[in-house]
Amino acid sequence: MSVHSSRKRLVAGNWKLNGSLDGNSRLLQELLVRPEMQAECDVLVCVPYVYLPQAVSILKGSAIAVGAQDVSVHAKGAYTGEVSAAMLADIGCRWVIVGHSERRQYHQESSAQVAAKVLAALNAGVTPIVCVGEQLADRQAGQEVCVVQDQLEPIKALGAQIVSRLVLAYEPVWAIGTGLTASPQQAQQMHQQIRAYMESDQVRILYGGSVKADNAAELFAMPDIDGALVGGASLDAQEFLRIVAA
Ligand code: PEP
Repeated sequence: MSVHSSRKRLVAGNWKLNGSLDGNSRLLQELLVRPEMQAECDVLVCVPYVYLPQAVSILKGSAIAVGAQDVSVHAKGAYTGEVSAAMLADIGCRWVIVGHSERRQYHQESSAQVAAKVLAALNAGVTPIVCVGEQLADRQAGQEVCVVQDQLEPIKALGAQIVSRLVLAYEPVWAIGTGLTASPQQAQQMHQQIRAYMESDQVRILYGGSVKADNAAELFAMPDIDGALVGGASLDAQEFLRIVAA
């Protein structure tokens, strides 16, 4: 059994393809009026690329960090439309989500590419949040652990040193944006399997999939759940703050 208390909790919002200058400003200002939340827990918001400078500027000097939602495997060159990890670091963005199921699904991202993004991010001083998770059919077939281990295999192959510098997020695809949440026991079971497979007591493992203020506390009570990656609920400042408070 892992030592939960030695791992700092982390709650990351994933805004996905949402936002506007005005709306972001309102949401971020609302988050900033609750400074008491920040000591025991890392908090960050992962915003669309174009809004990164705005978020960095508004959150400057606060304990809320800013992350991106993807990063190129390339450092520079003829890769139209891509954004490098060094560019993220250059503008003050220190976190990035990699391998989100929506990128795996709609952009055919392979686990090998995800591992390459992990290295690109870490080389630039940006911490990757690596998402893994099974489809509903995998779970119905009893294959969820194998599927998740296959996704993790190229990450584990990067070595213990690398694993100690990243964050993992278990996001069962059937729970993302659906209102269905893995039960705390289902999530805990998978987190425990992931931790054992990665052979790391220290790596933080977030849960993601319809996390809301109402279900956050029971998920966070589980010994191997170190926080959450929050999609839809991160677009509502009060809801997001209640998750952080949990
Ligand atoms: C996500 O996008 O990573 C996510 C977990 O979304 P939601 O919270 O909306 O299910």
